[in-house]
Amino acid sequence: MTRRRWIAEHWDEATATIVGAQAQHLAQVLRAQPGMEADVVAGGHVFHAEVAAIALNGEASQVRFNLIAEVEAEPALPVTLVMAVFKFDRMEWAIEKATELGVAEVAPVIARRTEKHLAQAAAKRAERWRRIAREAAQQSRRSDVPRIQDPVPLATRVRAAASATRIVLAEQERTITLCSLMDEAVKAAGDEMPTIEIAVGPEGGWAPAEEALFDANGWRAASLGPRILRAETAAISALAVVASCLE
Ligand code: SAM
Repeated sequence: MTRRRWIAEHWDEATATIVGAQAQHLAQVLRAQPGMEADVVAGGHVFHAEVAAIALNGEASQVRFNLIAEVEAEPALPVTLVMAVFKFDRMEWAIEKATELGVAEVAPVIARRTEKHLAQAAAKRAERWRRIAREAAQQSRRSDVPRIQDPVPLATRVRAAASATRIVLAEQERTITLCSLMDEAVKAAGDEMPTIEIAVGPEGGWAPAEEALFDANGWRAASLGPRILRAETAAISALAVVASCLE
């Protein structure tokens, strides 16, 4: 039987502890008792564990586990999704689905065509995005939680030094497909797993100056086909393509 997987907030060599809503859910909804078995993620490792102690105290509730043995965990996709901030409800959906697909990191950026009010409110959303990623990681039984960066101006991210293959999704690109760039990246990496960074534009698309900035900083433009996709569709389709090439 598949055991539930819990992501610990605190751990040491022999124990791991979950707190707050997770702990309350395990104790009150699932009626956990000492001795109950579970899988616990602690520091990026997955352990077969059993409940050692339960302390119910509202938001300060805690469930402590004894770690029994490490079990094999699947690695995240070595992909960073650079996402120009767009409508928050759709962006949250994209973060959830990207987490399910195994993304390692999401880097929100403010692009020229990011709506002003979204750009202003973005910094305060980062914690919520982290919570969504955490819940999606747990639901999809990941052994880690993707890193969600604080939003930065697009130019900061585009110019930052990186060893990854850097790809910008652009509906204007007609000939070079994401698939073909992934083939190149896989061949160039030989026996290693290539690391990939993929940028998705806002609802209004990239401004011409931004396309030039990507180009000047070594990013390669890629197409996802002849249809114009919504930003969240583009993000998730791209991750599915990358996953199918790397896994
Ligand atoms: N500029 C477009 C317009 O308003 O007609 C729409 C931009 S689209 C909604 C948002 C982002 O999704 C784009 O900046 C691009 O990164 C990505 N995208 C959408 N369709 C794509 C495609 N067919 N190929 C590559 N990227 C695509």
